[in-house]
Amino acid sequence: MFSKILQLYRLRDSKNLLSMVDFQLSFLLYYACIVHTGLLILSVVFLKPAICMYYFVTLMLFLLSARFIDSKNFFIIYGLIYVEITLHVYLIYAFFGVSIDIELYYIMLIPVGCYVLLMSYNRNFQRFFIFIIVVINAISYATFKIMIQERTDDLNITPAYKVFLVYNIFMAYGMATLQSYFFLKTIMRKFSNLKEESNEFKHQANYDALTNLYSRRKIIRCLENALDQYKSNKLPVSLCMGDIDKFKSINDTYGHNAGDYVLKTIGSILKANIRKTDCAGRWGGEEFVLLIHSDLSACYSRAEYLRKAIENCKFQFDGKEIPVTITFGIAAVDDATSSVGSIIEKADKMLYIGKEGGRNQTSGI
Ligand code: GH3
Ligand code: MG
Ligand code: MG
Repeated sequence: MFSKILQLYRLRDSKNLLSMVDFQLSFLLYYACIVHTGLLILSVVFLKPAICMYYFVTLMLFLLSARFIDSKNFFIIYGLIYVEITLHVYLIYAFFGVSIDIELYYIMLIPVGCYVLLMSYNRNFQRFFIFIIVVINAISYATFKIMIQERTDDLNITPAYKVFLVYNIFMAYGMATLQSYFFLKTIMRKFSNLKEESNEFKHQANYDALTNLYSRRKIIRCLENALDQYKSNKLPVSLCMGDIDKFKSINDTYGHNAGDYVLKTIGSILKANIRKTDCAGRWGGEEFVLLIHSDLSACYSRAEYLRKAIENCKFQFDGKEIPVTITFGIAAVDDATSSVGSIIEKADKMLYIGKEGGRNQTSGI
């Protein structure tokens, strides 16, 4: 049991909501186990064999309920706790003839019941469940209170007293419900906002905002994976670096927005014409990288296909047609160039040769 608590304690800060819920529910149940162990010791000290038996059975019951946490069977856990508290309240009254305030635990069942909000049930069902548990627990508490007051033959037990008592109990249970409900709702909202933000950050880190191609960071990661595959299985990998020709003069002649439009369109052409398993990224500025899982000659054919597609594409912006060409430099990974830096350097060198050789061409073969 203690090792389980320790294991759950380590999970308490987990970013995963379910493991947080697991932790808190388990914590409640193990807390109940500790409380009943204390009661068991008290009943041994005060030599009440029947109560000893009862506490032993309830201790087992709580340990049993903890087993249902992994299967996410919240209703069984809740139902078992409710039954245990009700039995406890009446049995203790039967043994001692007076209340020892065990019925206070009915109110503790309200925040426990509100845990249903943290689980993936339908929203209306969650609200219905919370409504039902508030009513059941408030009625259970009020019934017990009125029963023991009547047993004492207290002359003050008038109908007005009963009305005030029931009213007060329902108000207290209502308050407990509202607090738990809004507290858990706020946590849930914060949690889903955080999740959205972290998804957004991930997207920003992995994708280029203008072209929606992979970012430089992501493409380096893809390249590292591909290099690992090359090293372990000798799977062919080639890299293709592309740089738009005279892009500065496109910006100067047609404007920066036209330049952005060209970058975006080239991004879509590249993405639409590579295999799903290959990767296309924006290296920076007007430079692109393609990671092709093929040998050098297949990479050359792909680059030439793309180069011609770009050359033949009609880039229309603001009613003007912009002539656009691109130069590619390609390199295949081999044992001498099996690091990210070396393969990029090689493809970049080939690109430079292509630029020197007159642009609008693929060099490296
Ligand atoms: P080369 O054929 O030798 O590659 O010539 P180039 O003009 O393409 O090369 P250069 O490096 O001189 O110019 C690149 C230009 O790309 C300069 C920069 O203003 C422009 N640029 C970089 N990023 C962006 C962008 O996001 N949008 C636009 N519109 N222009 C960009
Ligand atoms: Mg450049
Ligand atoms: Mg350029």
